[in-house]
Amino acid sequence: MIVVMTVNATEKDIQLVVQTIGEHQLKALPLPGGERTAIGIPSSIPAELREDLAQLLQSLSGVAHVTHVTRSYKLASREFHTADTVVEVRDLSIGGNRLQVMAGPCSIESYDQMVLAAQAAKQAGALILRGGAFKPRSSPYAFQGMQEEGLKILQAVGQESGLATVSEVMQPDLVDRVARYVDILQIGARNMQNFPLLIEAGRSGHPVLLKRGPSATLEEFLLAAEYLLHHNNPHVMLCERGVHPLDRGFTRNTLDLSAVPVLKEISHLPVIVDPSHGTGVSRYVPAMSRAALAAGADGLMVEMHPSPRTALSDGAQSLTPDQFESLMRQLRPLAQVLGREI
Ligand code: PEP
Ligand code: MN
Repeated sequence: MIVVMTVNATEKDIQLVVQTIGEHQLKALPLPGGERTAIGIPSSIPAELREDLAQLLQSLSGVAHVTHVTRSYKLASREFHTADTVVEVRDLSIGGNRLQVMAGPCSIESYDQMVLAAQAAKQAGALILRGGAFKPRSSPYAFQGMQEEGLKILQAVGQESGLATVSEVMQPDLVDRVARYVDILQIGARNMQNFPLLIEAGRSGHPVLLKRGPSATLEEFLLAAEYLLHHNNPHVMLCERGVHPLDRGFTRNTLDLSAVPVLKEISHLPVIVDPSHGTGVSRYVPAMSRAALAAGADGLMVEMHPSPRTALSDGAQSLTPDQFESLMRQLRPLAQVLGREI
């Protein structure tokens, strides 16, 4: 940590900073510059002290700003774990050379709908079936999902088709129940900072797909992942799904594809991109899927519905089975150019 003093900070201001650091059993190292002084803390600061100490120092007279030299997240960072993390789900690897595609409807609506979705996903070459049973809807009047009934359908269709499954869990007390039905727990964008949920999902040890909150910084996103890792769950995947848009007239969210190379650089966790929520418009999904893979994503989560027109949620951003098949056909040569398999 480095404390940078203002140009007109007094010797007394500097002494108070040095004293405050010392009171926390840390050594302060004043670094006088031409115009102003900086005070470094060369030793490592206990994680639980880091934020409080920074805030305290920031509040002292003559302090311009406090900068962290090391990152606030550790377990999620590449410094801690240099090699790429590969999450194993059934017999699949996510984060390895093979790009993984998760496809299926926003919401599970019926057994027949999921059978058609699974057939279409499988035929096009996707290996993971998605479907929401507990739906986080902005309006309390919108379809809330089939809940446990839906999970039973997803589990049955997953077993019959041989596809791995992913579904969202919204409540900490339902983590174990949802984990009994699905291979991957999804933590949705709205729940990225639901800390009790992150703790329970961490404790479960079950693979987790963590979606980035619509206004979360990458640091907040990685700190949310840190919760899962800190609670002893190494099976974590990050999912970029778009942030609040500047212009809602055209897209539902702004898919932050620059997050992909950044996350791949600073973290070892697999990165999945969701171009469906990222755009909100089915005709933009293929372009953003191609762009996501080109940016270095390890896979995609794509909404696909046997009949998007009659879907109970997110129909406008869902591909038809034919459109999904055509997308997968476009992705194959691209994967090859990128030196990856799909
Ligand atoms: C979803 O996957 O259907 C969903 C609700 O996603 P998000 O949390 O990204 O909005
Ligand atoms: Mn959806």
